[in-house]
Amino acid sequence: MHNDDTIVAIATPAGRGGIGVVRLSGPDAQQIAGPLLRLKHELTPGQARFGELVDPQNGAKLDEVVATFFAAPHSYTTDDIIEISAHGSPVLLGWLVDRCLAAGARLAEPGEFTMRAFMNGRLDLAQAEAVHDLIEAQTLTQARVAAQQLDGAVSRSLKPGKEKLIALIARLEAGVDFAEDDISVAPEDEIQRGIAAVIGPLSDFAATFAFGKVVHEGITLAIVGRPNVGKSSLFNRLVERERAIVTAVPGTTRDLVTETVSIGGVPVKLVDTAGIRDAKDEAESIGVTKSFEAMADAGIVLLVFDASETAGTKDVGAEDEKLRQSLVGRPVIVVANKSDLVGDSGLAADIRTSAKTGEGIAELRKMILQRCTTGVPEMQSAMLTNARHHALIEAAIEKLGHATDAVRQRIPHEMLLLDLYAALQSLDEITGKTSAEDILHTIFSRFCIGK
Ligand code: GDP
Repeated sequence: MHNDDTIVAIATPAGRGGIGVVRLSGPDAQQIAGPLLRLKHELTPGQARFGELVDPQNGAKLDEVVATFFAAPHSYTTDDIIEISAHGSPVLLGWLVDRCLAAGARLAEPGEFTMRAFMNGRLDLAQAEAVHDLIEAQTLTQARVAAQQLDGAVSRSLKPGKEKLIALIARLEAGVDFAEDDISVAPEDEIQRGIAAVIGPLSDFAATFAFGKVVHEGITLAIVGRPNVGKSSLFNRLVERERAIVTAVPGTTRDLVTETVSIGGVPVKLVDTAGIRDAKDEAESIGVTKSFEAMADAGIVLLVFDASETAGTKDVGAEDEKLRQSLVGRPVIVVANKSDLVGDSGLAADIRTSAKTGEGIAELRKMILQRCTTGVPEMQSAMLTNARHHALIEAAIEKLGHATDAVRQRIPHEMLLLDLYAALQSLDEITGKTSAEDILHTIFSRFCIGK
């Protein structure tokens, strides 16, 4: 793949639409697009121009378009870009791309525009990855987090730790390289403190992944309970439209019905399961097995009891109790449903709901969100959502841990530096490479060596 030719692609989704955009990026963009456009005013950087799309062979008009020119280096890829917004006709857009190809452009590979932005240094790797997340976002919260990352939030959050690490490396390098120049090498505990000062902010940022992961990947919530307690009805309430089939005959939801909803911006995959009881036939028994599997896979379990059945008693039935016991130690929300049929039953549950009247449903949503975010005090401004980034930060922290041990064991600084460089390399794989010049610059600026 070259980085210096001109690439072209349809930028809008496949299919018909009001508008379809063809994007051209590279040094020949103007030259290639020129003969295809009949514009009243010539293309000017940063401005949209209304005009006609024409067949260069016979001058026939094919569409009315808006062409926008972004001149290098002020464009998405930093190369010249021309975007032609035509009507969203696949035939027309296909023809337009073919004309560009015939005029010397190359069909862009998937993600190539963003890759060029990265290769040309306009985006770092974390920002380029955020473009993908932004496009793939299922909830507005996911989009917002991705937009922050596109703005450089990940690299910004790593910056303080990374700068301290570079300073530490520079300091040790100075000690190693210039030992005979009478520069005092930092005493051991000072180095220890230096390493701890790097680990601190990295660990804080790594901790945001607990919630970031949930925001990014979502969470699965299995609704379980005996037949007829109102699982499907609750599922529908949470989905807010009639999706699961509700029946008054116990034991009929034999397949798993799933639907993903946004609860407080977190994508929650709801799984409605077959009622759990001693199965009457083979089909039901398969359903029950599936329910147990769904329960095992779920991030959160909504265990539903029927409050009306146990009215007047504080105890749940033996089957319910067995289910509750099987979930001890798991994140579970016990729901006493059908609250409209009884006063406060006193049933030991986390929340009372009525799928029929909607009572308690808003609270239930809040409780689900709380369980998703357990251990995370609040949504951070910058959040780690990418598993690759998290693994790399954890790897850096581990290397720094080795470095701490090395200092304690009075291992020579040359060896200690290997661990520090390894940690830096892990961070570089997120934010982009630290050059030898960066480190030298820090050495010379801080230590005034080589006056
Ligand atoms: P599932 O087998 O656990 O999925 O239960 P369903 O959702 O199919 O509901 C079983 C029956 O209970 C249906 O007739 C529902 O209309 C009824 N039902 C469900 N939730 C409530 C509730 O909160 N209050 C009342 N009164 N009836 C409910």
